[in-house]
Amino acid sequence: MIDSQLLLAAAAVLRPGGVLTGDEVSSRSTGWISRGSLQAAAIFRPRSTAELSAVMKLCHAARQPVVPHGGLTGLVEGAHAGQHEVVISTELMTRIEELDEAGPTMTVEAGVVLETIHRRAFERGFLFPLDLGARGSAMIGGLISTNAGGNRVIRYGMTRNLVLGLEAVMADGTIISSMYPVVKNNSGYDLKHLFIGSEGTLGIVTRAILRLQPQPRSQNTAFLAVNEFSSLPKILNELNAGLGGTLSAFEVMWNDFYRLMTTPPAKQHPPLPQTYPVYVLVDALGSDEASDRERFSTALEGVMDKGLAADCVVAMNASERAGIWAIRDDIDQFHQYRPWFGFDISLPIKNMDAYVTEVREKLNAKWPDNHTFVFGHMGDGNLHLNVHVGSGDDEARHGVESIIYGALEGRQGAISAEHGVGLEKRAWLKMCRTPEELALMRTMKQALDPLGILNPGKIFA
Ligand SMILES: Cc1cc2nc3c(=O)[nH]c(=O)nc-3n(C[C@H](O)[C@H](O)[C@H](O)COP(=O)(O)OP(=O)(O)OC[C@H]3O[C@@H](n4cnc5c(N)ncnc54)[C@H](O)[C@@H]3O)c2cc1C
Repeated sequence: MIDSQLLLAAAAVLRPGGVLTGDEVSSRSTGWISRGSLQAAAIFRPRSTAELSAVMKLCHAARQPVVPHGGLTGLVEGAHAGQHEVVISTELMTRIEELDEAGPTMTVEAGVVLETIHRRAFERGFLFPLDLGARGSAMIGGLISTNAGGNRVIRYGMTRNLVLGLEAVMADGTIISSMYPVVKNNSGYDLKHLFIGSEGTLGIVTRAILRLQPQPRSQNTAFLAVNEFSSLPKILNELNAGLGGTLSAFEVMWNDFYRLMTTPPAKQHPPLPQTYPVYVLVDALGSDEASDRERFSTALEGVMDKGLAADCVVAMNASERAGIWAIRDDIDQFHQYRPWFGFDISLPIKNMDAYVTEVREKLNAKWPDNHTFVFGHMGDGNLHLNVHVGSGDDEARHGVESIIYGALEGRQGAISAEHGVGLEKRAWLKMCRTPEELALMRTMKQALDPLGILNPGKIFA
């Protein structure tokens, strides 16, 4: 239920089609992960920052809780809305306002889809480096609010590193416009960081100035089989040193993940035998085809000569490259093992092997028939684990979570590397944040949103 006065007032400040109710709400999905029917009281769809600010002022006056929506590809129930909450969707804020070649920067509204940004940057000879599997749906406002990571963090950093300027609307409708198109601005607090990664709990992102990079002119990709986990950090260091800063992905796959992705019904054939304990996909983006290729080959030879990898294939063309990347990206194969629980943790590389061993031992002891697939952006200290134990009920989930998160303790780990906390992980947040850190987070929330109307219950209850 929603206050009818609020609906009328919102309809007056938004253009036609800006307020959705009834079937127009319930016919929508809750998102990529849960795919249920949306339960919100209404959806407000502003077309500009001014409109979004106006509806937030109304919601604030009515103490109406709101949930920001982008492309709904988030994986931690951060966009979950209850039936008394109003969704504020940025889906109609889709303007690319400017591409400044001198910057180089791109100024966009929050609802622009990542793939659209990629395309526009490419057409003008630039690269927006943020890339992930949800690129066709995820919107820049959602990506900023979750500080998304993806496939090229090792080279270009997380979303936080790619945003120069930001505009957001606060809980009371105040517009904070920090749209500064420069890397350097130490004139007081850097307020954009309040909104990057805070999952819509401190403000709603409306516009951003993104930092572009030159379009790479070369790409080299290899796939390596490795006998010992302990060789992986050495390979990473060897390649980092040998590739002159062009290493752009270092994606590790344990044997079970590799087998799943290269055995029918999966479409990919195994480029290397399925018998090694661990594999790594290596990708380098550079600026000169001939010299980059040579440097890549020399660096890989160094790895092989030192006996760090047991076997290796190099992609000779775009189709072979796509085939290798498809092994990493074909996550639909997890659906062979429904129901599954997905995890996104981080910890220092030096602690990863012992962590994975402990997790497997504990899962095997409790669920001998479990299927556990481990892979991830190892170069960023980020592992993904997908676990199938038969049941998908709350008790099974809690049991698996206790093992996955419990093994992080004492290993400098974090319960979320790149997906955020949302509703799904909030009970575990205290495992990787000190009481003082949590208290400061709550102080910030209280200061910026004293009525608690912005994305209530997300990150902490
Ligand atoms: C196939 C697949 C692959 C993925 N791969 C990766 C990956 O490699 N790395 C990674 O980091 N993530 C990955 N994700 C997760 C997801 O794509 C990211 O979390 C993405 O940033 C969500 O963007 P969205 O527009 O879909 O946001 P939504 O799902 O709509 O929202 C996500 C959160 O942000 C809030 N929000 C949305 N828009 C705004 C706004 N304008 N202002 C304030 N808050 C807002 C929401 O309330 C919610 O809390 C993947 C997801 C899928 C489905």
